[in-house]
Amino acid sequence: MRDDFLCYNKRVNLADLLKKSLGSTQLDLIRRVADESSALGFPLYLVGGSIRDLLLARPIVDFDLTLEGDAITLARSLVKKYSGKLTAHDKFFTATWTPQSSNSQFLDLVSARKETYSHPGALPTVQKSTIDDDLRRRDFTINAMAIRLDGDHFGELFDPLHGQNDLENKLIRVLHPKSFVDDPTRMFRAIRYAERYEFKLESETLGLINDEARGIISELSGERLRHEFDLILEEPDPSAMLKQLADLHVLKAIHPALSTANHQLPTVEEPSPDFGEFAIPDILSFRQTLGWIFYLMDFTEADIESLAERLAFPALLSKAIISASNLKKDLPSFKDWKPSQWTFHLDELPFLSTYAVYLVTRESALRDYLAKWQHIKPITTGDDLKARGLEPGPRFGEILRQLRAAWLDGEVKTKEEEKILLDRLVK
Ligand code: ATP
Ligand code: MG
Repeated sequence: MRDDFLCYNKRVNLADLLKKSLGSTQLDLIRRVADESSALGFPLYLVGGSIRDLLLARPIVDFDLTLEGDAITLARSLVKKYSGKLTAHDKFFTATWTPQSSNSQFLDLVSARKETYSHPGALPTVQKSTIDDDLRRRDFTINAMAIRLDGDHFGELFDPLHGQNDLENKLIRVLHPKSFVDDPTRMFRAIRYAERYEFKLESETLGLINDEARGIISELSGERLRHEFDLILEEPDPSAMLKQLADLHVLKAIHPALSTANHQLPTVEEPSPDFGEFAIPDILSFRQTLGWIFYLMDFTEADIESLAERLAFPALLSKAIISASNLKKDLPSFKDWKPSQWTFHLDELPFLSTYAVYLVTRESALRDYLAKWQHIKPITTGDDLKARGLEPGPRFGEILRQLRAAWLDGEVKTKEEEKILLDRLVK
């Protein structure tokens, strides 16, 4: 990574690097947008994290395209020329274009903007402006570079805040002293990038993570705050980031229990397909949901509940954390349980809670439940009971439950044995 980086460092035209890093489909798409933007007289730029990752020779995950002009006008003319779908957000001067041939891959087009904050921690007020202003509203110098894409300008690097220097020196640097006060989520972002790339916080920037900035955290909405943790939990190694945030007293400003938590989270493992489907809240990924359970399951129920409220957890997440927490605590008292007892108990819990506790304890009964027991059902069904002249009701459920328990506990091993037991139960 280093060699590649040095090789391109200080170059002001990144056309070759860009062509090399992008696939031909992506390049083709970008060319179409750039040509159209050029025809409209709107300078077009690739901005933000993609430039950082390009210079670090890391894969570029998303393309943020910013233009000096009107994003919605550009998107309209792309649709006119190439068809596809347009979604416009007039209030934010942004548009999304989904080309017809793209397997629903879409491009976000954003008008360059200037942002002002009415008060610390508020969401910014936006007005259209130049690329220079657009870069100056950003979080860190390494995220505030742009490469121009239209016409003969293709590949020109625009780096007014010297992001390249900071990349080379492995430094995270804010753009102005009030940055963390304007937007305290940037403290989380700073640590996330520092740990992800093994960079350091530049010393003045580090000093700006102070009482004033931490004090504004209380102004942030639960969703915005949780989102920052979600991003951390999505990283390959969240533990060091959480620890660093605790050491900088950022977590204490959210909830006292977070500062004393164990920040060393277990590794997320992909579940075996035998374990079935895990329900997760639709706003979180599997990794994030499991990460939250790992992080909070040793907290008291009262702390979990107050954090869930502060961080606007979806109900499914709070339930999964509390279930995992109780299961882990109760585990020693289940030691002598029969498989049917485990199964009937665990059936009531979210599978993901059982899976999380299994990963941290390696309790074999939990693995057996997920891999086998949860799937074991008697052959007899409700319809069979009706056919025997039984009236549907609570006794129905009880008979089926006893048949299932017999299979789980090895008391019944064949269809015939099940029938004998059924005859006895029906009598
Ligand atoms: P990642 O690899 O984590 O996605 P990214 O740089 O793509 O990194 P995004 O969160 O996707 O980060 O944001 C895109 C760009 O928007 C950033 O590079 C940065 O320039 C800008 N940005 C994002 N969040 C903030 C913020 N809170 N304050 C200022 N600028 C921000
Ligand atoms: Mg991104």
